[in-house]
Amino acid sequence: MGETLGQASASDTVARLRDAYESGRTKPLTWRLAQLKALGALLRENGPALEKALWDDLHKAPAEAQYAEIGFTLAELGSVQKHLRGWLRPARVAAPAALLPATAKTVLEPLGVVAIIAPWNYPVQLTLAPAIGAFAAGNAVVLKPSELSPATSRVLAELVPRYLDPAAVAVIEGGVPETTELLAQKLDHIFYTGNGTVGRIVLEAAAKNLTPVTLELGGKSPTYVDDSVDLDAAAARIVWGRFLNAGQTCIAPDYVLATSTVQAKLGPLIAKWIERYFGADPKKSGDYGRIINDRQFERLAGLLGAGRLVTGGERDAGERYLAPTVLAEVPRDAPVMQQEIFGPILPFVTVDGLDDAIRYITAGEKPLALYVFSDDARTRRRFLTETSSGALGFGIPLGHIGVHGLPFGGVGASGAGAYHGRRSLVTFSHEKAVLSKPLKPDTIQLIAPPYTPARENLI
Ligand code: NAD
Repeated sequence: MGETLGQASASDTVARLRDAYESGRTKPLTWRLAQLKALGALLRENGPALEKALWDDLHKAPAEAQYAEIGFTLAELGSVQKHLRGWLRPARVAAPAALLPATAKTVLEPLGVVAIIAPWNYPVQLTLAPAIGAFAAGNAVVLKPSELSPATSRVLAELVPRYLDPAAVAVIEGGVPETTELLAQKLDHIFYTGNGTVGRIVLEAAAKNLTPVTLELGGKSPTYVDDSVDLDAAAARIVWGRFLNAGQTCIAPDYVLATSTVQAKLGPLIAKWIERYFGADPKKSGDYGRIINDRQFERLAGLLGAGRLVTGGERDAGERYLAPTVLAEVPRDAPVMQQEIFGPILPFVTVDGLDDAIRYITAGEKPLALYVFSDDARTRRRFLTETSSGALGFGIPLGHIGVHGLPFGGVGASGAGAYHGRRSLVTFSHEKAVLSKPLKPDTIQLIAPPYTPARENLI
């Protein structure tokens, strides 16, 4: 890649970061807080450059760039800055009577050199929000933005060394070859966000060095809607969650599970809210995104055609524009139901009712998120206890990502590990067990051999 010409190799970069880490410079709280402060300055002082890059890569509206990327990351940063001192305090735990007198505690220590490998859909947030935890924990950090959002990758590669400690923080740009080379290095943690196929490659590479890994993956996030709710209000929320960033959101509602009766009422309401948000012709809306590249556009175009078209379907390959599209009564074996959609298509799949919906969900991979629109307490409780997903949202898609106290991550095929808030600090730390016992009185003599009679050594 042209942009990456002159870039140091991954092995040189990681070696340099390792020297910095070994020197101890990243460990003091002052270094950690300085990086967090500098990251805040980077985000605050470069709004226009970041917004432009996100527009160039994704046609992302500046307002959306602010709340879903820049502002989001700043809010996450603020919460970590506020609590870091407290979170770093050693936590005392009780020692068993047999070991007393003794004190036991856990201490969070940094891991070393960590890599953060990010995707293209929220390229600012998903590169920098994990970095907050990595800095807070006192690690040297290498960031690998996605090559599929090249404008953002470039801006980050320019800004990061200007704001953050260049001795201990680096950006590696590039695609598969560069990432493969990075993964071949000895790292102390790999934090990967992206698809499950590459997730497996990351795990394999990590296995060679026994490197711990966080996998933030995707999958199909179901949305169940029944007729106990205000369907118009539910439609407004579902449309917002599905078509934000032209559907290219890992936790977007991927499909709706509803009875035919609910579908018949919900379809027109969803169409109404699409028009309310993006106008009669969403192509002309400055608030509606584009598909990231031709390959994704062709894949999405190939998923159209199933079920009954409720609204949308228009497309323009030249602009990579795909209208917000809703398909009702989609067969369960349709291609659009066989893969994560990750674009502006919302299929409705017919279920008989609650049992059928739960059966359908639990028969598939564990989703990254599951959304339920029902005012029935028993229905909600059944989803809580009978299904497993990274997150469960009642009445709101996406919202859980903004609650910094909630761990953000998947389960099973949708990921392993989590971050945000204190969880980010823990993810990028080793929780060291520390036990301290005075040499006298030597209570260990009570259990030391010889196991028979005399205990004359005991003081
Ligand atoms: P992507 O293609 O940008 O890939 C992600 C990263 O993996 C990039 O940095 C890329 O360079 C690297 N990569 C790609 N191929 C590789 C290979 N063969 N070897 C090593 N590295 C490689 O992004 P994507 O995977 O298309 O992202 C979309 C997916 O990510 C969706 O499945 C989505 O649900 C998921 N996602 C998950 C989250 C989350 O937080 N859980 C967030 C966003 C996206």
